[in-house]
Amino acid sequence: MINDFLSSLSISGQALKMLLRGPYGNKAWSHGEKNNKRKTLNHTSGYALKQATRTYIYILTLCLFTVLLISGCMPYTRGIMKHNLVRVAVVCGVDDVTISGTQRGKLYNDYRVNLKHTFPLFFGPHSGTVTVNGVQYRGNIEMRKTGGRIWVINVVNVEDYLKGVVPCEIGGLSEDLIEAAKAQAVAARTYAYAHINQYDHLGFDLYATIQDQVYKGISAERDVTNRAIQKTAGEIMTYRNQPIEAKYHSTCGGRTADFNDAWQGKAPPYLRSIRCTYCEKSPHYTWNSELPKTQFYQNLRNRLKIIGHAIPESERIKRIRLKINKRSKRVREMIVETENNHYTIPGYHIRKALAYIGNPAGLLKSNYITIRSKGATVIVEGRGFGHGVGMCQFGAIEQARQGKSYRDILRYYYRGARLKRIR
Ligand SMILES: [Zn+2]
Repeated sequence: MINDFLSSLSISGQALKMLLRGPYGNKAWSHGEKNNKRKTLNHTSGYALKQATRTYIYILTLCLFTVLLISGCMPYTRGIMKHNLVRVAVVCGVDDVTISGTQRGKLYNDYRVNLKHTFPLFFGPHSGTVTVNGVQYRGNIEMRKTGGRIWVINVVNVEDYLKGVVPCEIGGLSEDLIEAAKAQAVAARTYAYAHINQYDHLGFDLYATIQDQVYKGISAERDVTNRAIQKTAGEIMTYRNQPIEAKYHSTCGGRTADFNDAWQGKAPPYLRSIRCTYCEKSPHYTWNSELPKTQFYQNLRNRLKIIGHAIPESERIKRIRLKINKRSKRVREMIVETENNHYTIPGYHIRKALAYIGNPAGLLKSNYITIRSKGATVIVEGRGFGHGVGMCQFGAIEQARQGKSYRDILRYYYRGARLKRIR
C-alpha cells in the first residue's frame, strides 16, 4: 500500500513539474523567439494537450490516493463511522436469556431464549426499547452462540451507548457540575472509538463492565449526563489524529500516575504524571490500613502465588522494600527479601499483590502507598483510588465547581492531546 502510494507520488511528481511549467513546456515560453515560438507551438500543441490531460488525471489520482490513505490510517473512520454503531456485550456466556422486543414485526414479550434455538438471533426495539433480563436498552439486540453459550450484544448508536455509560462512570451530577459530565462524556466517547473492533473475533467491540466501561442501558440515564453527551456530540480527544487512550479513574490522591505505573507497554506522551490537588475532598484522597505482620506476609505469599510470582514455602520472607517512581510517587517495584533471595514485583502488579489490604474482594485501592512496620503491625498508608492514570474524576468535578470548562479539564489531564469533532 505504502509502496503503491510512493510510486504514484513519483509519477505524479513529474506530472506536477509539467503542470508548473505550463502545458506547453518551458521551451515554448522561455526563449521568446517569435519564429521559433510559432513553430514550437504548432509542433507541440496536440502532444501537449494529451500531456496536460494526463497530468490532471495523475493529480486527481494522487488526491484520491491521499484521501484513501488518510482515511485508512484512522481507525475511527472505519466500521463505527459507517453507521455510528457500537456493539456492546451486555450478557456474556449464559444458558438462557429473557427478552422483550420485536422480530420481523412480531412482538415477543418476556420470551425465553435457550441453547436449543438456532443462532444468531436478532431482536428490534418495541416503543424504542428492547429488554434483556429486565434491563432496557436502546438500539437492537443480537444473540450469538460462542463457546457453547449465549452471548447478548446490544448494537446501539454510540451517543445512546454513552447515555448508559457516563452516569455509571462519574455518577449522577447536578446541573452546576455539567462541565465535569461533559469531560467524562468526551473521555468515554474517545475510549469507545479507540476500542472499536477490539473483540471482533467474538463479534463485539466493548464489554459492558469495568473491563471496558460500565454500561447499564436506559435505567442508568440521567438528564444532566444526557445533556452533557448531546452538547459534546461527536467530540473526542486525539493525538496525531488518532483517538487517545482516554484513561480515567476516581481519585489520584495528589498526583496522577505515569502510564507504566499501571500497565506495561509503550507509554503515550499525554499520559504522564501531573500534579492534581483538586481531589482533596474525595474520601479516597488519603487512607490507611493496618494488619498483623504475620498475616500480612502470609497473605502476600498467597497473592504472589496467584499472580505468578510464587516464593518457595521453604523461604521465610524477611522484609519488603518499595522503589518509588520519583515523578508520580507511585511504587515502581516491590522487592520481597527472603534469607537467600530477592524477588522483584513490578509496580503494575502491586495492586494485585496487595489486594488483601483494605478491600479483600478487589484490588488494592492504589499503588500510591508507603508501607512501614510498628511492632507486630504493618501499616499501609495510601493515596487515591484507581489506577491513577489520565483524568482524575474527583478532580474534574472540583474543577467544574471552580468554573473550569470541560475543555480546560480535558486539557489539564491529557496534556498534548487535542479535542476534535469527528463528524
Ligand atoms: Zn486528583
